[in-house]
Amino acid sequence: MFAGCAYVSPVIQDFNIVSIEEEKAIGFQVQEQIQKEMSLSSDSAPNLRVKQLGERLEAALPAHPFDYQFYVVNNKTPNAFTVPGGAIYVHTGLLNFVDDDNQLAGVLAHEIGHMFERHPAKSLSRAYGIEQLSGLIFRNNKNQFRTIAFQLAGGSVLTKYSREDELEADFFSFQLLRRSGMQTSGLKRFLIKLNQLQGSGPSFPFMSTHPPTVERIHRLEMMERGNAAVIASEAKQSKI
Ligand SMILES: [Zn+2]
Repeated sequence: MFAGCAYVSPVIQDFNIVSIEEEKAIGFQVQEQIQKEMSLSSDSAPNLRVKQLGERLEAALPAHPFDYQFYVVNNKTPNAFTVPGGAIYVHTGLLNFVDDDNQLAGVLAHEIGHMFERHPAKSLSRAYGIEQLSGLIFRNNKNQFRTIAFQLAGGSVLTKYSREDELEADFFSFQLLRRSGMQTSGLKRFLIKLNQLQGSGPSFPFMSTHPPTVERIHRLEMMERGNAAVIASEAKQSKI
């Protein structure tokens, strides 16, 4: 525990998480495995769509230590996931699923929220332990990074994110859409659409976790209506 303190970043003080530098090093290795193991799209239209929206959202962020990057994965499941260090991956299935760019921006802003609040690093620190995670970087075990890549993509690093993390990322999405001058309803409309399909087909990783989708929709609705109590309580936890 105390040995870990030496690694704590001066940017974000959190004793239960690897340092920013370690997070970037892990992200680099995980990205390398994703490039090897998953089919990344090289089509310019979907890549440009995601990159432009992502960069617009990134420009509205408060100061942060990460370089955000956006990639498209050839995969029919409507999903998106985030890798430590700032890389966000969007499935082609998600691009085909959303009704419009506002819904896509809502999902991207949710993923940016996970990254900004360092949820992937937190989840990995929880699953592997900080010491062991730091050791991974030095041992450079490609198989281990490959496992992590699939865990992050499939949502299974010890159930990936907590309920609190999900709600935090939802609030972050709402705020970031507002800050970037976009409609704040993007994520809510996306979740409503997903929810309508729930139970009627394949499972969707984006909503397979707690909290229930209806609860998330309800909270986002209250934020949109300007419910001061909900916004104040969310803002207390959030860095945006
Ligand atoms: Zn999430």
